Amino acid sequence: MTTNQGLSHIAFKSIIDSIDDIFGTNGKNAILKYAGIDASIVTSLEYDTEKKIGIENTTNLYMSIRDLMGTKGYSTLMYRGGILNINYTLELSEKLRRLIDLEVTFDEKLNQVYSAYIESIGLFPDEALEFFPEKKEILIHKKPYCNECEFVKNDKEKLERISKPGCSHVLGKIHQMGNIRPDLGSVTAEEIKCALIGDDECLFVVHYEFRYGNEIHLSVEEQ
Ligand SMILES: [Zn+2]
Repeated sequence: MTTNQGLSHIAFKSIIDSIDDIFGTNGKNAILKYAGIDASIVTSLEYDTEKKIGIENTTNLYMSIRDLMGTKGYSTLMYRGGILNINYTLELSEKLRRLIDLEVTFDEKLNQVYSAYIESIGLFPDEALEFFPEKKEILIHKKPYCNECEFVKNDKEKLERISKPGCSHVLGKIHQMGNIRPDLGSVTAEEIKCALIGDDECLFVVHYEFRYGNEIHLSVEEQ
């Protein structure tokens, strides 16, 4: 369990870059200072999915963003971080690029991508993923160790301020993973249950649409 704690460099970097995009260097430095995170940690970040930032710095970052930006600001910033996270991973990971490039139908593509994600966080696709093709809907159950939840759940004052599902970084990632092949289809995603508001798990629902029916399109001809 403990090995999964903390955030990968690439995930941490995606959140820091999202802060930088939205608030600039001064805003980024102010948030890092508030969170008590040494600036040298940020400058030494690498695009590395194996290297981790420890649980303390990760949690301080999450909680400071929530403190300073409020719920809506937190959601916007973390959601954008989730999108950047997938974009960076795609640049870095040949394995993911190969998966994205495989010519299969869109619903099979979603199955592959979300299964790879679920395995990467130490869960089992058989347990965590549910497909409902007739509704074009996918449920993603996430009940791993969560960097923020474990701390916020013990802080009554913080918990009382959260009234809606709040795992925006994960939501941004799920959204971006599903929209990685716009030539085949697109998704919308929302979190409908969340450990942060006392639910027994975080539950994400993905709705998908096919771009051209659900055939395999080896190439799309320009009209
Ligand atoms: Zn959640």
